[in-house]
Amino acid sequence: MTAKIIDGKAIAAALRAEIKRDAQALLARGVQPGLAVILVGDDPASRIYVRNKSRAGADTGVRSTLHEFAADAAESAVLERIANLNADPGVHGILVQLPLPARIRTERVIAAIAPAKDVDGFHPLNLGALVAGHAGFVPCTPAGVMHLLAREGVPLAGRNAVVIGRSNIVGKPMALLLLRENATVTVCHSKTADLPDVTRRADVLIAAVGRARMVTANMVKPGACVVDVGINRLPDGSLAGDVDFAAVREVAASITPVPGGVGPMTVALLIANTVRAAARAAGMKLETP
Ligand code: NDP
Repeated sequence: MTAKIIDGKAIAAALRAEIKRDAQALLARGVQPGLAVILVGDDPASRIYVRNKSRAGADTGVRSTLHEFAADAAESAVLERIANLNADPGVHGILVQLPLPARIRTERVIAAIAPAKDVDGFHPLNLGALVAGHAGFVPCTPAGVMHLLAREGVPLAGRNAVVIGRSNIVGKPMALLLLRENATVTVCHSKTADLPDVTRRADVLIAAVGRARMVTANMVKPGACVVDVGINRLPDGSLAGDVDFAAVREVAASITPVPGGVGPMTVALLIANTVRAAARAAGMKLETP
């Protein structure tokens, strides 16, 4: 079997077109959705991510502003800027590009963002809402994966879903979202014994590890849907996912590529959350759920 390649770029473009309609409806009411992006230091990958997010915003009618800090900036300076952005009515979403330099406490910075502007969904209040099944902002990458699965019509209820990785920004929220759709969810991590034995039971396998091509064909159930969240830079400068794409493609029923799979969805969901935040602030109901 050769798997169907799930085209994240096309699905993200369709979603952005829907978001654009919502943004235009807001603009017609005199509200332009505003996203503030905080970048600390000069990590080249972070700079690329920030640029992609600003571009996608501009295409969709979201105004983004970049707030840059030197790598040796004080944590208090970042916190002060967040406090100002929290109070700014023209800013509806605040994103802090991770990772932050080690001196700056990431949890403190994230917790300083007003939950109503936490469009990345990393604030403990939003993560708690996700656990409790209440409305809130959901982290963009797992939300993007769910959107891909829905658009592809991948059944989840009663199916075995395995998530490799348990970070707060991908693995854990991913597991909760799959559970919400009634999948039977297993979460794997670096201490999981016999990983291939677990992953081979997955009807839906999500890899969010950060190790190039670690998911090999013998770890995949024939006919499974495989979603590759990983982004790994190879020594030659090219990108690879966590899945051995060429080999797994021959076993799975559907698979996301890297690049062009989950990455564009993450960006689209960020913009969607920003427009949603602006709509909430304006007391307006949106077309896109
Ligand atoms: P983290 O480093 O925070 O988490 C990695 C997880 O993988 C951990 O839970 C770790 O386990 C687990 N792990 C590590 N080695 C193994 C192993 N050998 N077997 C099983 N599990 C293992 O990464 P993130 O969650 O932040 O990101 C994961 C990947 O997704 C990265 O490549 C990142 O670049 C990419 N990413 C992509 C995005 C996109 O838009 N496409 C957005 C965000 C991230 P333990 O907890 O035990 O240490």
